[in-house]
Amino acid sequence: MEFAETMNDIHSIRVPADGGGSDIDRKALWVIKELGLPAIVKACVSCRSTRHHPTGKFRVNASGKLLDVWMLICCELCDRTSKIPIHERIHVQALEHERLLVFENNDPAMVRRLAMDAALAGKAGYQLDWSGTWELETDMPFYELEREDPTPLEVVIRFELPAPIRVEKLLTAGFGLSRSAVRGMVDCGRIRLPLALDAKAREDFTLFVTTTPPPSRDPAADQRPAIGPGSMVHGTGP
Ligand SMILES: [Zn+2]
Repeated sequence: MEFAETMNDIHSIRVPADGGGSDIDRKALWVIKELGLPAIVKACVSCRSTRHHPTGKFRVNASGKLLDVWMLICCELCDRTSKIPIHERIHVQALEHERLLVFENNDPAMVRRLAMDAALAGKAGYQLDWSGTWELETDMPFYELEREDPTPLEVVIRFELPAPIRVEKLLTAGFGLSRSAVRGMVDCGRIRLPLALDAKAREDFTLFVTTTPPPSRDPAADQRPAIGPGSMVHGTGP
């Protein structure tokens, strides 16, 4: 039952084709699904652990006209609570009332946002550990890559959370290919990327895959059978 519903969900979020029905199967959507918040990595004063998680609460302290706001986190091993400063000694009038209410109400969306905030981590002197926080969900069966089609396959990659993931890792996982196979396809232009294979992506991007054999330009490609009369040839120079 649950499985069927999940499958329906996957299909319902397929990216619609822009120019009508013919190329609808040449688009794929990969989603980096959120499994959890990154661990906040800093030394615990009570034990040897360095991994912390938000408790889901903020603490607001008023001292005269000045406010302190902290996000509370607890140690994964010993449960000791510690504080991440969000606002320090801020004048009560400098903090919008709505924002103050968000902290006073322990707004879960604000906890999530701050727990993933790399700038806050830098400012407060801790690291974020994103391992185990995401999984890749693809709606593209692997045999798609084997099917020859002159229309490039468009793959939209959507991030539910800003987890930094190496592009190469996404591609090997998404296509079910080895690193060398992915590198080969990028080198010969069959996979076109808006960023380098070694880069870390953390927000949405789109890539294109050509599933017809590339025109032969190097000795390795010449070992393949003849391409056939209808093939496109790259390079339209004089
Ligand atoms: Zn501890």
